[in-house]
Amino acid sequence: MTLSDQEQYDVFVRRDTRYDMAFFMGVKSTGIFCRPGCPARTPKRENCVFYETADAALKAGYRPCKRCHPMNFPGQTSPLIRKLINLVESDPDRRWSEKDLIANGIDPSTARRQFKSRFGMTFSQYVRNRNLARAATQLGEGDKVIDAQLTAGFDSPSGFRTAFAKTFGTAPKKSKAEPLLVEWLDSPLGPIIVICDDSHLYLLEFTVRKNIQRQFERLSKQHKRPILPGRTEITEQIRDELIDYFHGDITQFKTPLKMTGTDFQQSVWQALIDIPYGQTRSYAELAASIGNEKAVRAVAGSNASNGLALIIPCHRVINKCGNLGGYAGGLDKKEWLLAHERQHA
Ligand SMILES: [Zn+2]
Repeated sequence: MTLSDQEQYDVFVRRDTRYDMAFFMGVKSTGIFCRPGCPARTPKRENCVFYETADAALKAGYRPCKRCHPMNFPGQTSPLIRKLINLVESDPDRRWSEKDLIANGIDPSTARRQFKSRFGMTFSQYVRNRNLARAATQLGEGDKVIDAQLTAGFDSPSGFRTAFAKTFGTAPKKSKAEPLLVEWLDSPLGPIIVICDDSHLYLLEFTVRKNIQRQFERLSKQHKRPILPGRTEITEQIRDELIDYFHGDITQFKTPLKMTGTDFQQSVWQALIDIPYGQTRSYAELAASIGNEKAVRAVAGSNASNGLALIIPCHRVINKCGNLGGYAGGLDKKEWLLAHERQHA
């Protein structure tokens, strides 16, 4: 970070979000610290102190601002979500209901909203998936199907078979499939889901993406492996790279990828990876770059079905006329990413 204090102060005055996370500002008169882009009125220059990390501002005794939430990245899960997850982990066999939440001082509608925005699924879907994944692990360890069924919280074998097949694409039977591990990471653009095993990254998506749940199911089926919450060294690697990417310190990702798609889709995704950081292409240019000028529609379709957002930079494809086109993660994110890359290219 080479900006002077005055330049950092000016970033706050301009509310320039491109410097988000690059540094933080403590305000002596209020005891609060903020991130660049904070919507609150910028205090007088003499009251402001600058820190390279949120941690340093905290250690200096400042509290996080309630308007710009400077701790959300590299983030802390909300206390309510943490509490809920701990509750479920402490009593995994319980069938959690709204009554249980209320008994634990949790407002069910707040829980539903926060879960949906962080995990891309409701609390009850989360619990259901978690239990199915536990059942799958149990089967992998050689347990009987009936025991796995009870673990997953199903009274009837047929209900269990249907739910299991829907999630994993196979009937519940003893299997040795290693699970894929899903983790939720924070970013300046909101929570990101990553799915990894010991050697590859399989999926990276913003949780706001529609049908994220169905994408989980498809991935699980295609690889015939259950998806469980957890992390591997690959999770750590991509997390570190994402922090560098959002700081504008790297222009390429090195985490090994497993792309799940047809040969045609894979050729489109490779062409996307070849679009240089800070630049954009039209769908027609992308089609031409794989030697298939006529396949603009199919190219757009493959672009949209990319399950490795950011890493396979589908955000760098725009309409011919220069407007932004679509983005599964939301247009505001696409705009942010393109501005961010132009700035750091
Ligand atoms: Zn603030």
